[in-house]
Amino acid sequence: MGLQEEVKKRKTFAIISHPDAGKTTMTEKLLLFGNLIRSAGTVKGKKSGKFATSDWMEIEKQRGISVTSSVMNFEYKGHKVNILDTPGHEDFSEDTYRTLTAVDSVVMIIDATKGIEAQTIKLFKVCKMRGIPIFTFINKLDREGREPLELLDQIEEVLNIETYPMNWPVGMGKRFLGILDRYQDQFIKFNGNEEESYIPMSEMDQDEIAQHPTYQETVDELELLDEAGDQFSIDRVLEGEQTPVFFGSALAPFGVQTFFDTFIELAPAPGPRRTTEEVISPDYPDFSGFIFKIQANMNPQHRDRIAFLRVCSGKFERGMNVTLARTGKSIRLGQTQQFVASSRDTVQEAYAGDIIGVYDPGSYRIGDTLLEGKNVFQYDELPQFPPEMFQRVTAKNVMKAKQFRKGIEQLVQEGAIQLFRGYPTDSMIIGAVGQLQYEVFQHRMKNEYNVEVMLESIGDRIPRWLKKDQVDPKLFDERNLLVKDREEDFLVLFKNDFALRWFVDKHPEIELIDLFEVN
Ligand code: GDP
Repeated sequence: MGLQEEVKKRKTFAIISHPDAGKTTMTEKLLLFGNLIRSAGTVKGKKSGKFATSDWMEIEKQRGISVTSSVMNFEYKGHKVNILDTPGHEDFSEDTYRTLTAVDSVVMIIDATKGIEAQTIKLFKVCKMRGIPIFTFINKLDREGREPLELLDQIEEVLNIETYPMNWPVGMGKRFLGILDRYQDQFIKFNGNEEESYIPMSEMDQDEIAQHPTYQETVDELELLDEAGDQFSIDRVLEGEQTPVFFGSALAPFGVQTFFDTFIELAPAPGPRRTTEEVISPDYPDFSGFIFKIQANMNPQHRDRIAFLRVCSGKFERGMNVTLARTGKSIRLGQTQQFVASSRDTVQEAYAGDIIGVYDPGSYRIGDTLLEGKNVFQYDELPQFPPEMFQRVTAKNVMKAKQFRKGIEQLVQEGAIQLFRGYPTDSMIIGAVGQLQYEVFQHRMKNEYNVEVMLESIGDRIPRWLKKDQVDPKLFDERNLLVKDREEDFLVLFKNDFALRWFVDKHPEIELIDLFEVN
């Protein structure tokens, strides 16, 4: 098979959602389609342990299958599907955001009984700022949830994206009859735990429809949508401006098959990516890719790390020689290097859209580009994602200042945590998007650098960057803290939403930059 065909086959995506919306359940069902597991059941019990593992590790434990936790791939109807995990719950971290830089599309799961929730908003913003196409699955239709129109409104308003319902539910909860599939022009009947049945619209019994009040209501709503709603536009979907919305139940499962089939049909294959030189197409003959995540081993006996690399062009072959673009150093991607895949077998080759795990002796940084041949370009730097929680950090033992600095410097470079300096005090403040990052930080400082650190929380904050010519230290204090980032850019850590709004009112002349809006 040629490069182009290999690339076209691939669908690389992540599922984003708020905890408990049904990501694990959905993932399980997709694995069933891919014949990766034989039976699905609810994954019971919540994630436990200090270093919470991903939901997939949970599946792995329960099902006894070999899921290398972060990336799974399987063949489905002639496609190669790569699903990347976006750890949530207590293991939500910057890695969760960075994973989204390595996918070509995203599935957003919303719990119909709850509507849009906090974590979904954060992850959605990252997709939006990167223009990633988003497919929405509204889950738990077997329960009494919010009105479908209300849910669509909420998506449009809170997330600021057009919606196009691909199907529309008839009833909900106990009165849930099924979905009208607008895209395939059929009715899919909900039969409880039995298999769903598909009835073409032309064969629907009109008398039965007339007798069913809920059904009639749905038909009316659909008419309204046809008239007043947005038209389906695959171009807008691919630009990330419109999201196709599917209703169903991941648990039943119901509507999952038609959702996934449509998703596989519409979701984009790997596309061209920007670099420092030119845009690189996925069928560019030389291998290239970038590292979006580095996973350190928590076991002090095993300091090795795995760098996750997204292949962007060409063909990866095990044992090949590549150049690390940042340093120009040549590296052999040899024996030690392992695929992160559905099985632990080392796969021999990979193409654009695939994710490979590269053994990292400490040479890589997040965002690094690896290249074959004489190429010299680098993929766009990964964006800095705004942290939300901040802590002051000091070494317990002042005698260890040197190791302390070295440790922080390396962990910051690796992307484990972000460092800020108070201004003008120069105190060290570290920022993270999730609690897990602090735990990992503390643990690694102790185990790898032999330094015990003291952390003093300054709470959740809202970071806003300042323009260089608008920095006035007099305007800030403990409440709204002025700090500098690694690039020596100034930002303010606002105490809360209220403090931010108050400041904006008082100083309308000062421009406050939200990283989510500019990247
Ligand atoms: P995650 O935290 O997003 O991975 O959510 P899970 O997949 O673990 O699901 C959270 C809970 O919701 C579990 O108890 C699931 O059984 C339940 N659940 C998931 N999908 C559905 C659904 O379609 N209907 C109902 N009633 N419950 C569901």
